[in-house]
Amino acid sequence: MDRVRIKKAISTISNHDKVKRALNELKEIRELTLREQIAITEIEAPTFEEAKRGEYFANMLKEAGVQDISTDNHGNVFGVRKGSKTNSPRLVVCAHLDTVFPAGTSVKAIKKDGKIFAPGIADDGRGLAVVLTLARIMDQLEISTIGDVMIGATVGEEGLGDLYGVKGLFKDRDDIDGFISIEPGSPQRIIFSGTGSRRHRVTFTGPGGHSFGDFGTPSAIHALGRAVSEIADIIVPSEPKTTYNVGEIKGGTTVNTIAEQASMIIDLRSTDQTVLTSLEKDVMAVIDKAARIESNRGGDGTISVSKELVGDRPAGSQEESDLIVQVAGECVKQIGLEPLFSAPISTDSNVPISLGVPSLTLGGGGGFGGAHTVNEFFDPTDDFLGPRQILLTVLALSGVDKVSEPLLEKRT
Ligand SMILES: [Zn+2]
Repeated sequence: MDRVRIKKAISTISNHDKVKRALNELKEIRELTLREQIAITEIEAPTFEEAKRGEYFANMLKEAGVQDISTDNHGNVFGVRKGSKTNSPRLVVCAHLDTVFPAGTSVKAIKKDGKIFAPGIADDGRGLAVVLTLARIMDQLEISTIGDVMIGATVGEEGLGDLYGVKGLFKDRDDIDGFISIEPGSPQRIIFSGTGSRRHRVTFTGPGGHSFGDFGTPSAIHALGRAVSEIADIIVPSEPKTTYNVGEIKGGTTVNTIAEQASMIIDLRSTDQTVLTSLEKDVMAVIDKAARIESNRGGDGTISVSKELVGDRPAGSQEESDLIVQVAGECVKQIGLEPLFSAPISTDSNVPISLGVPSLTLGGGGGFGGAHTVNEFFDPTDDFLGPRQILLTVLALSGVDKVSEPLLEKRT
C-alpha cells in the first residue's frame, strides 16, 4: 500500500459531502459530548465492578443508533454498525469502562477555571464519550461504511484487571481485522506499539519472634528490604524502554516483633518481550538471593518466598510504516495537525498487537492532567479535534459506501 493511495483515499473521504458535514458537526456538538463524558464519569466503575456503568453505556450506544448491542460474559459492551458489503474488514472502536478508583471515591465533576475535575474524567471518560459521539454522528448523517464497525467498551483495562476484557474479546472471536482504542490525549498522538508488563506479588515468610529476645532470627521485612535494595540497582536499557517499580510493600506487626511476613508488588515493563523476560529472570534471582542471605544470618529458621503473577500484558510492536499507523498519521494531517508517533503505553491495544491485529491507541482530544489521581482533570480546549481525527481514521480504514474502499485488509 503506497502512501499516495492512502492520501488519495483520505482526501476523497474528507471531501465527501456527508463527511464534511460530520466534521463540522463534531465541533457543534462538543458540549453534548462533554455532558455525556461527565455523566459517564459520575457513575463509579472500579475495575471488576463496571456493570452499572456498562448498562448505562449500552443504553447510550442504543440511543446513538448502534445495533445488536450486547454485554458479553466478561462485561464488555459492544454493538455493530453494519457495513454495506459482507466479507469486508471488521474494525473495532472502543474505550474502557473501568477506572483505577476504588468504590466510594467521590466521582462528582467540578468545573473550575475552564477545566472539569473528577477522578476518571479523562481516563477513560473522554474515550467513552468520544465512542458515543462517533456512533451518533455516523448515524445522524447516515454515513455508511463498507466494513462492519464494532463499537463499544471493554472492562478490566486498568491495574490488576490486566486487560481481561480485551483478552476475552479476542479469545471469543477471530473476525476482527483492526482495532482502535481511545484514551485521553492529543489527537496528534498515535500510539502503535504496546508496552508489555509482568507484575508479581512476592511474599517473604519467616519464623518471627521477639526483636530483643530472638535477635538473629531471620526477618521477613529485612529479606524484603535486601531484595528491594538490589532491585533498585538493576541497570535496564533505555532502548527498548524497560522499567521496574516496587509499587507497594506491606508487612510486619509491631515495632518489637521480628516480622513473620512481608510482601511487595513489583511492576516490570518493556516494549520488547525478550528484554522483559530477561529482566523478570534477574529480579526473581535477586529475590531468591535476598531470602537466602537473610536465612543464612545464623539465627533459627529460614525465610521462604512465594511469588504470584498478578499481571501479564504482552509486549508487541508494529512499525511506523505499517498501514494502520500511516492512515492515522495522514488523518492527523487532514485535520491540520502534525502527527506525533508516540512512545508506547500499556492499553487495550497491547492484546491485538501481540496477536498481529493492526491496532492503534488514539487520543480523544482536549487536554488532561492528574490521570489516576483524585485530582484528575479534563481541559476541553479544542477537544473536537479528537473525534474529527478518529472519525476520519475509522472511515478511511472501513471505507465509505460508494466513496472509498476500505484501506484495512481482511486478515482471513
Ligand atoms: Zn485508560
